[in-house]
Amino acid sequence: MEQELQEKFNQAKSVDQSVLPKAQREVKAQVALRERSPEEIPGETIIRVREMNFWYDQFQALKNLNLDIRENEITALIGPSGCGKSTFLRCLNRMNDLIPKTRVEGALEFKGRDINRDMDIMVLRKQIGMVFQKPNPFDMSVYDNIAFGPRIHGMKKKQELDELVERSLRKAAIWDEIKDRLQDNGLSISGGQQQRLCIARTLSTNPSIILMDEPTSALDPISTQKIEELMEELKKEYTVVIVTHNMQQAGRTADETVFFLNGEIVESGRTDKIFTNPLDKRTEEYITGRFG
Ligand code: ADP
Repeated sequence: MEQELQEKFNQAKSVDQSVLPKAQREVKAQVALRERSPEEIPGETIIRVREMNFWYDQFQALKNLNLDIRENEITALIGPSGCGKSTFLRCLNRMNDLIPKTRVEGALEFKGRDINRDMDIMVLRKQIGMVFQKPNPFDMSVYDNIAFGPRIHGMKKKQELDELVERSLRKAAIWDEIKDRLQDNGLSISGGQQQRLCIARTLSTNPSIILMDEPTSALDPISTQKIEELMEELKKEYTVVIVTHNMQQAGRTADETVFFLNGEIVESGRTDKIFTNPLDKRTEEYITGRFG
């Protein structure tokens, strides 16, 4: 079986990826997944992407992606509008499942499990939470915003919920500002506070990964700084993947940076290398502001 796959892979490698039939692409993805480089430390990679393709109906939005996302790091996805960053982010917790006629091929793993085939979607979304561009608290109290998820997952005791609400708000660096307003509506607090409330809500189900889609683009500079400092704290316990159009933000916060263009990953690597010594001319042109 192994040998047969390897032969198919060798045939597949010599052909342009885009003209490979689906079965061959799948084989290539499966074999590529098994190729682990010796210097990789087990457990370090939390998301593994191999030969991944994604379509909205006839339109291919992601092409042949390969990427490892590491635990307890901040990974920034950068690139001009429309290049597929949000689409990729949404693939990580299957938010695209909600859009009709979407299709994904290739391998996408979370802790060694196939996100699209081996995981219950509720479990997946508990493990991989998401924070959006525009803060979106529920129209209910600050307290209930945080308690909402844990209640759905069966937590009922008041004391447990109280502790969890406090812990989540503390981790999102908003407890001190909001502890006397827990019964106020989540929509009544400032935009920056709402975004940290949404982060706290995501933390309340104890995820491994927090996805952030341009989380500061609707915020003022001070609120932005607070979120960036918070990200730095969060990565001690969680893995953060952030889409950002702000190059300074990527430079300031990210350990790893991934440059997307036209649905492809042009290059990825340590942020300082990508910013100071990019391998691809297009990366250099983008980060120096020549397009995008
Ligand atoms: P980015 O986040 O880099 O701005 P997106 O992932 O939003 O890019 O979009 C990538 C491509 O997919 C774009 O061409 C966009 O028009 C297209 N696209 C995004 N969402 C949808 C959708 N729901 N249906 C069809 N096409 C979409």
